[in-house]
Amino acid sequence: MTKRLYDLDSHQTETTSTVLSCVSADNGFDIVLDQTVFFPEGGGQPSDTGTLGEANVSHVREENGEIYHRTDRALAVGSTVSGRIDWARRFDLMQQHTGEHLLSFSFYKLFEASNIGFHLALDYATIDFDKQLTHDQVVEAEQLANSFVWKNLPVSTNFYEDEEAVKDLPLRKHSEGLTPPIRIVSIESADMCTCCAPHCDKTGEIGSIFIADACNYKGGTRINFFCGERALRLYRSQHDDMDGIARKYSCSRENVPNVVRKLSDDIATLKKSERELSRALNGYMAAELLAAATQSGKHRVIVQLYSGMDAARLKDLAQAASAEKTIVLLLSELDGRLLYVLSTGTGFPQDVSEFMPAVNAATGGKGGGRGTLAQGTAPSILGTVETTAQLKDYLVKRVREIK
Ligand SMILES: [Zn+2]
Repeated sequence: MTKRLYDLDSHQTETTSTVLSCVSADNGFDIVLDQTVFFPEGGGQPSDTGTLGEANVSHVREENGEIYHRTDRALAVGSTVSGRIDWARRFDLMQQHTGEHLLSFSFYKLFEASNIGFHLALDYATIDFDKQLTHDQVVEAEQLANSFVWKNLPVSTNFYEDEEAVKDLPLRKHSEGLTPPIRIVSIESADMCTCCAPHCDKTGEIGSIFIADACNYKGGTRINFFCGERALRLYRSQHDDMDGIARKYSCSRENVPNVVRKLSDDIATLKKSERELSRALNGYMAAELLAAATQSGKHRVIVQLYSGMDAARLKDLAQAASAEKTIVLLLSELDGRLLYVLSTGTGFPQDVSEFMPAVNAATGGKGGGRGTLAQGTAPSILGTVETTAQLKDYLVKRVREIK
């Protein structure tokens, strides 16, 4: 069986090994060594990557107690190779994982919230707790976890023969059916739990722990957290974003929330005033549309195409122009789509739903409605001018037939 050097020293990055077997596998070869510094994925932590001699190691897994290194080239059985892990990747994963132990311990100690799920990826890390937690509780646990980081506590690993040997240990979680030897990871004066993964030697290596999000998840809480360089990168990127906003609005970073609040208020005021202006303008535009309406038998037809008018204004204008015995079809090209509204005034004898199938067919859009108002949208504005002319001819003809 392969000697697992990562169990003895989580900071050993390279070693010399003898190749025990080499079997071809999907996209490469599976290599077994007499000893290895490569951690196979486990305990929620992704595997190491790196090099074995000239070969690249893309993934490492454990199967039936054996460790297989997936390489991109074959290695001669019996040969000696030097293996080296991608240390930046391993150290980042250890920072997150040891941070996870401290967070799990802190939430358990403060609120008896148990970790029931841990996901560690190259770009995110989450823990699921079995309790709903408030923002204040999350902040309190984050603070406690960081206080263990700042004490720079030693992290140790010990092996025990069987479950009997660990039953009296103050473990955060007692699991059953563990395969001996049972590996226990302890953080002095803080957490103790079973874990198969390599960890930081001292909690100070974690750097800092930051919980970015906490949300309800399956009746409990899922937190998304960042440790070490990930926390620094997050802060750097958000700080630079904040700086960019501050520069744009010529204010200090600290004042950005106030400026954004004021902008939001200003936009609401402007929208209100724009709605009022539009309503007033619609009055004039409706009068123009009516003056140019086509008389068709006893009724009038208005068809008009606009550019850039949104759905709410289009509807307001159509209704404003819907005078007695009048049918109005307004269309608007907006962001590459065609919007349309069909509306009728008092004394118009037919329901708009009787005309909509023909309008939808001509525009290639979908829409509906009944009574005096219908609306629709088409995904393209190709040939809209011609379509508008066709629809006007159609409505004039149909309306002329109304007795
Ligand atoms: Zn663990």
